[in-house]
Amino acid sequence: MSQPFLPFTRPAIDEATIAAVGEVLRSGWITSGPKVKEFEAQLSAMFGGRPVRALSSATGGMEIALSMIGVQAGDEVITTPLSWVATANVVLRAGAKPVFVDCDPRTRNIDLERIEAAITPRTRALFPVDLAGLPVDRDRLYEIARKHKLRVIEDAAQSMGASWGGKPIGSIGDLVSISFHANKNITSCEGGCLVLNNEDEARQCELWRLQGAVRRGDSWEGMDVTLPGGKHNMTDIAACIGLGQLKALKTFNERRAVLARRYFERFDRTLGCELPLADFEHSNWHMFQILLPEWAARGPFIANLRAAGIGCGVHYPAMHLFSLFRELGHRVGEFPHAERIGRATVSLPLFPAMQDGDVDRVCAAIGPALAAASTQRATA
Ligand SMILES: *Cc1c(COP(=O)(O)O)cnc(C)c1O
Repeated sequence: MSQPFLPFTRPAIDEATIAAVGEVLRSGWITSGPKVKEFEAQLSAMFGGRPVRALSSATGGMEIALSMIGVQAGDEVITTPLSWVATANVVLRAGAKPVFVDCDPRTRNIDLERIEAAITPRTRALFPVDLAGLPVDRDRLYEIARKHKLRVIEDAAQSMGASWGGKPIGSIGDLVSISFHANKNITSCEGGCLVLNNEDEARQCELWRLQGAVRRGDSWEGMDVTLPGGKHNMTDIAACIGLGQLKALKTFNERRAVLARRYFERFDRTLGCELPLADFEHSNWHMFQILLPEWAARGPFIANLRAAGIGCGVHYPAMHLFSLFRELGHRVGEFPHAERIGRATVSLPLFPAMQDGDVDRVCAAIGPALAAASTQRATA
């Protein structure tokens, strides 16, 4: 009767990749080397030949992108309150101000039609997020960016393998930051990449990636440092895992879509939950997020599912309500859509190794977990 615990996500690393990591360890070259170059070349091929630089995290990639654009104190960057907090943190660390724009409740991404009202003479960039791997409308986004002559940093951390206009995210647009964190659609344990517009930008990115150090010519006297770069290089071990995962990306994402379809088919629509937008054209189904009905208490609901052997996640509370942002003047009621979604969202289990029966099991457990969650709130 008792089934193994079903986590909300789990990476799938094959034996060939594990063996390849052993080879890298034995090779004597364990930090950035030939595997990183190979990983970058394969990513670039996937992104239509655009230059790609591998990094130790997508957060690092977004920091680099802000540095490359020259975002600094006094500047504003327009983004969404519904993201992993990295998106706004990097803007603050650059000394600039994240300007939040509320979400479109249909996509749960930044409401593109509200962006223009938030643009000021200090706006330096648009910084949209593809929540759950559902891409922001790239046609409308770049129409706005072109009209106002703004750079775009795509926080495409969750969008690996998602597409727009039949092309993979990363192959179009301005600066695109993708994550290979353990929970993303493919992983390098920790890691990410930044897709750039040209070789000149790629060289700039390399400087920001590793201490701004350059070596001119072969001489030991040829070393110079031209800008205060950070420490964001990817290791060959991580790149080797990324290479193994990249081979499986298509299979992984196809499997995710099959599981997502099953959620739509099996989910009891009478429970009052809001399902995500059923966009099988663009999304990579990084997550399957339901919104609980207003009367249900999320904590008890998640605890009840956990007791039934099912893990879930919360991605994410609206970030302007975190202490850091409240101290900057943000308050409840500012972004009603983001706040409602942030309060009600629950990420259900979705990962490639899941069985069809696991989806059925989750769907069967939701009704009872919800019923128990309402009782618990009423008596709390
Ligand atoms: C995962 C994630 C990041 C950060 O990626 P790291 O590789 O962990 O730095 C940023 N933004 C979003 C939306 C993410 O999901």
